[in-house]
Amino acid sequence: MSRTPTLSANDPASKRTAVVQRIAAACAEHSRDPSTVELLAVSKRQTVESIRQLYNAGQRGFGENYLQEALEKMPALPDDICWHFIGPVQSNKTRSIAEHFDWVHTVSSLRVAQRLNNQRPDNRAPLNTCIQVNLEAEDSKGGVTADAAIQLADEIRQQPRLLLRGLMTIPPPNSDPQQQLAMFERVAQLAERLAFPVDTLSMGMSADLEAAIAAGSTIVRVGTALFGARQ
Ligand SMILES: *Cc1c(COP(=O)(O)O)cnc(C)c1O
Repeated sequence: MSRTPTLSANDPASKRTAVVQRIAAACAEHSRDPSTVELLAVSKRQTVESIRQLYNAGQRGFGENYLQEALEKMPALPDDICWHFIGPVQSNKTRSIAEHFDWVHTVSSLRVAQRLNNQRPDNRAPLNTCIQVNLEAEDSKGGVTADAAIQLADEIRQQPRLLLRGLMTIPPPNSDPQQQLAMFERVAQLAERLAFPVDTLSMGMSADLEAAIAAGSTIVRVGTALFGARQ
């Protein structure tokens, strides 16, 4: 903590501290315990070196979008990282995702869920799974509608090698905090409608994590605010 502000503003540890403080401030504003919101560092297009720097600052959860890129970086990084797959899941990539990740946030079909279940190695814990919801049904994004999410949740619960944790969303870009909040609240309400309790809402990124925390997010996925702009 003896660094000068100008130096510290750009180093990974200080960026992480700033994000942790944003999370703490949002939790305080909404009477939430900060330990109920996990910071997931989104490390797509970041180098092994910058991931390691954030690791050395105490970060353990990292999220990757591109399977090939993740598989190249993982062997060079410590074993106690918890890896989250947060990109679109193509059917022909499920085996590697099931073998190498601890979480997948972006399941949006029974077919993908069944493949992940069948391909999850027996010696690993069940794969933590979130259903990606896309309440505006935007074509450009994966994810399912509310009714489809309710059905898919039931189906995932029947897969013994998957552990359904909750819902994930990437809302349409929106700079109005009230509208951000309204969208996140719809996802939180959908989680309440599932036939059984879940413990995870994966929502909120660098630009909207406060609104997500206000609505009940339990995992914020943050890239730019931790690493700076991506290459
Ligand atoms: C890139 C990405 C993020 C992080 O976005 P930032 O705006 O850089 O914080 C979060 N979630 C998903 C699914 C992403 O693809």
